Amino acid sequence: YLKELEELKDLDAITLDGRKVELVGNIGEPNDAAGVLKNGGVGVGLYRTEFLYMNSDVMPGEEKQFAAYRSVLEAFPDGPVIIRTLDIGGDKKLPYLPMDDELNPFLGLRAIRLCFKEVGLFKIQLRAILRASVYGHAHIMFPMISSITEVRQAKAILQDCMKELDDEQIAYDKDVKVGVMIEIPSAAIAADIISKEVDFFSIGTNDLCQYTLAVDRMNQEVSYLYDPFNPAILRLIQLVTATSDKKDQFFTGMCGEMAGDPLAAILLLGLGLDEFSMSALSIPQIKKIIRSVRYEDAKAIATAALNMETGEEIMDFVQESMKKLN
Ligand code: PEP
Ligand code: MG
Repeated sequence: YLKELEELKDLDAITLDGRKVELVGNIGEPNDAAGVLKNGGVGVGLYRTEFLYMNSDVMPGEEKQFAAYRSVLEAFPDGPVIIRTLDIGGDKKLPYLPMDDELNPFLGLRAIRLCFKEVGLFKIQLRAILRASVYGHAHIMFPMISSITEVRQAKAILQDCMKELDDEQIAYDKDVKVGVMIEIPSAAIAADIISKEVDFFSIGTNDLCQYTLAVDRMNQEVSYLYDPFNPAILRLIQLVTATSDKKDQFFTGMCGEMAGDPLAAILLLGLGLDEFSMSALSIPQIKKIIRSVRYEDAKAIATAALNMETGEEIMDFVQESMKKLN
């Protein structure tokens, strides 16, 4: 088995009929990059930068952040590194940043919303990412986007940072790619609108399920309702990929847990996902599945699934279909 994984490592994630997708890793800190490389990931699809903040007693400054981002970019000279800006709030707090208690923290001052309130903090991070961008293929990703207005607001702040760096004659990648997480239902439904302002999407199914199905992702009492295979979720994913299919040079990835689920791989492939980002250890298994199917078959499976009534029915159907393909 280990030998098989070793052989898979340097092979592309390509279907039998030639559709190539990108398999990349989710990381929480620079040290995680090694595991992604070891398992054949070609880049990073989600760098959760909040750990840099949470593992610190004080607000990490620009230099510290720059060093962290640079080291990840240098680990992937050829591949993309998608750095997600701070996603704090919800259940995650910072000891050095006092925040009011909220009645519904997951619907409150979380992620990009907090960054708009604390623009100084946001700009330090953006400056650090920009400065690191010359060391690889940096992509900046904004979390918890609910509308195009927020994308424009975030990009305006990014522009301010670029202008500052220009004035200080500090180098950065002027073509740095900017994207958003699609993890709020409104963003999925309005993906065609939002796509006008960005270079890529990454679907965050963990929150997309939570917000679409109104199920707290941490609450065991209602976890039976938390179902990424729910037809409503598949239809939202389809809306997002359909938008990106229409645009050149645009890609749609997924960095929620669903992207690393072997049972979901064929469906997601068939729905037109371009990039799958997951924990490093899942990469070989997903690669194996993608290399064993035809894109045409995956599309037919996805189309059929979109017309089914329940997640259970869809999962059974996918399982049966996978058996037939083998
Ligand atoms: C998601 O919501 O799917 C996601 C990848 O982000 P996080 O799990 O960090 O909220
Ligand atoms: Mg999320």
